[in-house]
Amino acid sequence: MIPFSPPRIDDATIAEVTEALKSGWITTGPRTKKFEKEITKYIGCKATVAVNSWTMGMQVLLDWWGIKEGDEIIIPAYTYCASANVIVHAGAKPVMIDISKEDFNLSVDRVREAITPRTKAILAVDISGFPADYDHLMELINEPEIKSKFRGNNELQNTLGRILLLSDAAHSFGAVMNGKQAALQSDIATYSFHAVKNLTTAEGGALCFNLPEGFDHAAIYKEMCSKILHGQSKDALAKTQKGNWKYDVEEPGFKCNMTDLQAAIGLVELQRYQENLDRRKAIFQLYDFGFQNEDWAIRPLYKTDRKTSSYHLYLLRVAGITETQRDAIVQEIFEQDVSVNVHFQPLPLLTAYKKRGYQMTDYPEAYNSYANEISLPVYFNLSDDQVRTVIGAVVKAVNKVISPA
Ligand SMILES: *Cc1c(COP(=O)(O)O)cnc(C)c1O
Repeated sequence: MIPFSPPRIDDATIAEVTEALKSGWITTGPRTKKFEKEITKYIGCKATVAVNSWTMGMQVLLDWWGIKEGDEIIIPAYTYCASANVIVHAGAKPVMIDISKEDFNLSVDRVREAITPRTKAILAVDISGFPADYDHLMELINEPEIKSKFRGNNELQNTLGRILLLSDAAHSFGAVMNGKQAALQSDIATYSFHAVKNLTTAEGGALCFNLPEGFDHAAIYKEMCSKILHGQSKDALAKTQKGNWKYDVEEPGFKCNMTDLQAAIGLVELQRYQENLDRRKAIFQLYDFGFQNEDWAIRPLYKTDRKTSSYHLYLLRVAGITETQRDAIVQEIFEQDVSVNVHFQPLPLLTAYKKRGYQMTDYPEAYNSYANEISLPVYFNLSDDQVRTVIGAVVKAVNKVISPA
């Protein structure tokens, strides 16, 4: 069976985790701090806070930004449920919009229509690793008319004076836009290091801050480190210093700090990230080559003049099929011992969001992109032979379903 997305765990990973275990310090400590610094260097952002998942990192971030009941955050209907769940938990409303036809990312024109005086943030998602249209989104939220609609309700929001542009970069570590890391095109980019992501720490995530002039990133870093640890004024390592046991809690915080065991995995992953990226790129090109003569194959967009994907997921689409036929094709592929997946079921298809009144018919592009989509395996250890096996299995399955003998 060719698995869909196994983590790359080898001797180097095991050695680094073993070192961390033997060091006697297993929770947040030197390795987590080093990991944060290395991410800051890699991305080129102003500060990085490591957390135990994208979801909890974003939850804390929304709390810090002062998101509350009555606020609206714009998200694409086509994303993982986490992007919307955190907004619901913050008491705010996820305002879902449709995606564009060319890629799987939110449509800037639709964002414009969705902005109201209650809009506090836009959470763009880099589906499959292909960056959202950050430059156009940034232009949009800086337009005088849009800016004048903005109503800040705390000091942070007033300092920014416009809608906050957040990036759900769970898929896009290493993606490039306009010659820079794509993360630098938003105010805050948020990563997931879950086991299936490009860069993993088993579970984990990071918040990369890149706010404009007027924000003190050293102070933000300190505040966030406290907020992810109960609101304590000192972390566990600082408290072990001689006579340094006493701390204060000014506001009740959350608990979602990254451990040094996770950071140990992450440090190894980061060190060899380029070779990982290069391999995934080569796999994308093999898929492109393998499907180029199939007239039913709609190959994904992953490189333009402005943007280069992080090559997270190869989102193949099969022209002219229904959702039911797609499901049958997926089944046929599995029958040939090849694992594939579907990214994503648009949120209005999920019960939690149906119950909240979202209707799939309001998002035709999201539905169309989902109904005929099949995600193919992409990871460092997938060999060229295995890629050819995947291509063969897909072609056979599609032919069987769309032109049964
Ligand atoms: C994986 C994922 C998340 C959630 O990440 P966790 O680290 O599991 O919380 C959020 N958004 C997208 C698009 C994802 O794929």
